[in-house]
Amino acid sequence: MTFTSTRSRQAPAVDFRTAMFQGLAPDGGLFHPSHEPDLWRLLSSLPNSSTFTAIAEAVLGELLRDDFPPDVIARLTREAFPFAPSMSRLHDQHLILELFHGPSCAFKDYGASFLAHAMEASLLESNQRAIILTATSGDTGSAVARAFFRRRNIEVVILYPSGRVSPLQEKQLTTLGDNVVALEVQGSFDDCQRMVKEAFRDPGLNSRYRLTSANSINLGRLLPQALYYVAASIWLGMQPLVFCVPSGNFGNLTAGVLAWRWGVPVRQFIAATNANDVVPEYLKTGQYRPRASLQTYANAMDVGDPSNFERLQLIFQDSGLEMRKMISGERVDDKEILETIGRVRREYGLFVDPHTAVGIVAAERYIERAAEPTTPVVTLATAHPAKFLEVTEAATGERPLIPERLAEALGLPKQAIVIDNTLEALTEVLELRYST
Ligand SMILES: *Cc1c(COP(=O)(O)O)cnc(C)c1O
Repeated sequence: MTFTSTRSRQAPAVDFRTAMFQGLAPDGGLFHPSHEPDLWRLLSSLPNSSTFTAIAEAVLGELLRDDFPPDVIARLTREAFPFAPSMSRLHDQHLILELFHGPSCAFKDYGASFLAHAMEASLLESNQRAIILTATSGDTGSAVARAFFRRRNIEVVILYPSGRVSPLQEKQLTTLGDNVVALEVQGSFDDCQRMVKEAFRDPGLNSRYRLTSANSINLGRLLPQALYYVAASIWLGMQPLVFCVPSGNFGNLTAGVLAWRWGVPVRQFIAATNANDVVPEYLKTGQYRPRASLQTYANAMDVGDPSNFERLQLIFQDSGLEMRKMISGERVDDKEILETIGRVRREYGLFVDPHTAVGIVAAERYIERAAEPTTPVVTLATAHPAKFLEVTEAATGERPLIPERLAEALGLPKQAIVIDNTLEALTEVLELRYST
């Protein structure tokens, strides 16, 4: 498989490793597969008792065979995915695909972990080192930190805004140590992002260090997210499904759409958003109007200008009509989020987090309307309820069990370097820690 920019499809294609280390295409577009492989035959040959690792190995082995030999793919998938998705059921027609069993308790663990292991394998092979530089407002940073922790030949520098991430998120970022450095920036998330962008543009820094981003638009994070759509489909006997995806930046949904293009039978996608409903509005009106984001309970989805919309437009050839045939949009507000977390606990005995609640509401609306009540709807559960304790507790009056891997971080001491919100301050840390 090769990759070209969403903005110039005639530009020369690059291999997976190049796309992974560059992050963004030179013209500012996103790397996207140049062709759509047909995996239907391969997927149909996998028994529905296959493990997630076996499915991942088969699919990635096919997609990345020009970049990694089969034995390396086998090792990468085994090491990147010591965790797996599981399915639970609200009722006959509504299934939940739980994606929060990884180290940071959110679906971003799948992409981050594969990216970390693939980068490590490439760097070891070429005997090079890289520094991952990333800004976070909370959730992404913890997945990236955990994924890259103790990966060889890689240093990780994470910038987060002082006092603006939740106490649990701060612990997840700052208690690892070793090759993970947390910088507590005296400023906002926008300051953190600006500093990272300035560093990537600085010729001096880039000649001294191999700086790499690990943000969510990276192909190395996007591709592995297609794997759990494939797995759900195989586990349910390759029958056509409806996938309901709680969405913010639309990486998760885009990965699902790719899986469909490669042969996973899908009847419909539901793009479930919180009050930041730019895409549902586009699907309804044909008008795409990005705007500043609004703050909601499902804060990892507070995105007013989703970057992956560019990939979706390319897949559907800029045709709103084609996109609408495959994707329907639903907006869910904070009041419904709270009400739903409480109701799902009462009716089904299940705790869900605010992001998953957005998906559940959207799926329920779809089921109510559907002409064909037999197609199962699979809602993606994107985070563990214990990650959003305050909201879950307020909605249910109970406290979900906190998984060991989250509780552990809470008991460890914070280690962060406090810095000013300037490129100079960031440069100083890089020089002190990494100059040779
Ligand atoms: C990032 C995130 C989302 C949104 O995923 P996108 O790929 O950005 O659409 C949803 N839920 C949780 C818990 C997240 O962390």
